Amino acid sequence: MSRSVSSVLRLLLVLLFAACAASTPDVVSADRDQDRAALSVSRTVREKARAYRSNHEPEILKEFVDLLSIPAVAADPANVRRSAEAILRMMATRGISGRLLEVDGAAPSVYGEVLTPGAGKTLIVYAHYDGQPVDRSEWKSDPFKPVLRDGPLRPGSREVPLPGPGEHANPEHRLFARGASDDKGGVIAVLNALDALKASGITPSVNLKLFFEGEEEPGSPHLGAILEKHASLLKADGLVFIDGPAFPNGMPVLALGVRGVQILELTCYGPDRSLHSGHYGNWAPNAIIELTHLIDSMRDADGTIRIAGFAASVRKPTAAESALLSRVPNVDGILKTDLAIGASEGRGEPINERILLPALNLRGFQSGV
Ligand SMILES: [Zn+2]
Repeated sequence: MSRSVSSVLRLLLVLLFAACAASTPDVVSADRDQDRAALSVSRTVREKARAYRSNHEPEILKEFVDLLSIPAVAADPANVRRSAEAILRMMATRGISGRLLEVDGAAPSVYGEVLTPGAGKTLIVYAHYDGQPVDRSEWKSDPFKPVLRDGPLRPGSREVPLPGPGEHANPEHRLFARGASDDKGGVIAVLNALDALKASGITPSVNLKLFFEGEEEPGSPHLGAILEKHASLLKADGLVFIDGPAFPNGMPVLALGVRGVQILELTCYGPDRSLHSGHYGNWAPNAIIELTHLIDSMRDADGTIRIAGFAASVRKPTAAESALLSRVPNVDGILKTDLAIGASEGRGEPINERILLPALNLRGFQSGV
C-alpha cells in the first residue's frame, strides 16, 4: 500500500465568517397610495431609461469595450491610472465635472458631481473600476480584448459581432472581459443612466456624487485614507453601492444592507515528515482528520452555526423589515436550477431570510501537499 496518509501534514483552512450587519430602515411607509405614486414615477423613469438604452446599444457597448480594453488590475498600476483618466474623460464629455482623488501609494479614485439646484439631499454613487487579478491560462480569450458571446461560456457557445449602427443587442448575449460585470459595468451603467435621464428631460431630485474606486479588489487598502482626506467633499446623506449580482429573476434590486466579512486562515500541524500509513496509521495524528472534526463541530448539517456566541450581537429583523422581506419574490427555485443544486441549507427558509443570519463558510482547503 502506498502512502495514504498525507505526505505533508500541513493543512490550510480558510474560513469566512460573515457577521450580519443589516441596516434596513426602521419605518416602512404604510401609505399604499404614496407607494403607488412613487412606483408609477419610477416606472415612467425606468421606461424612459429603457427606451434610451434600446436606441443607443451600439454606442453604449462601444464605450464599454473601450474601457474594458484598458487593463485595470493591481499588478499594472500604470493602466489602472489610464483607466481612471479614461473615466474622467467619459465624465467630461457628458459635462460632469470631475477629478482624481489621490493619496500616496494608492490607485486614484475618480470623483464626479452632478448637482441639482435646490436639491436637499446628496447621494454618493459608488462603483469600482479595478478588476480581480488575471490568470490568462483560465481565460478562453484575451481578458483585455472584450468579446461578445451568444450566452454564458459553455461548450458550443460562439463569439458574435457587436451590434452595428441601428442594430440591437440580443439580451442573452454576454460581453466577456476582466471587470465587465465586476465592476466596470457599474461605471458604465451609472454614466449611461445619467445620459438617459438627461435625454429624457428628467432632472435628478438629489445631488449625486460619483465615486469610482480603483483598488477594491485588493481589499481597499487606501479607501479609509481617501475618505478621511476628502471628507468634506464626500459629505452625503446616503450611499448607493453598485457592486452586486442581479436579482435571480432579473428584476432590479435595491439591497438595504450587506454583511461584513472576517477571514481567518488556520493551519493545523501534524508530524514533521511524511509517514507510511501502514506503519503509523491509527497512531500518528492526521492533520486532515483533526481539521475535519473541528470543521464538523462548528456547524450542523442544516447550516446552524454551533460556535457559542457567534450570532450574539446580531439583532433580529424588525416587524417592518420582515414585512418588506415578505414582499421580495421567492427565487429559490430559479437559483437551485441555475446552480444545479437539489436542496438548500436551513429548513426551507428562502434565501432572503437566510442571508440575514451570520454565515460560516470554508473558502479554501489545502492538504496533503
Ligand atoms: Zn466588485
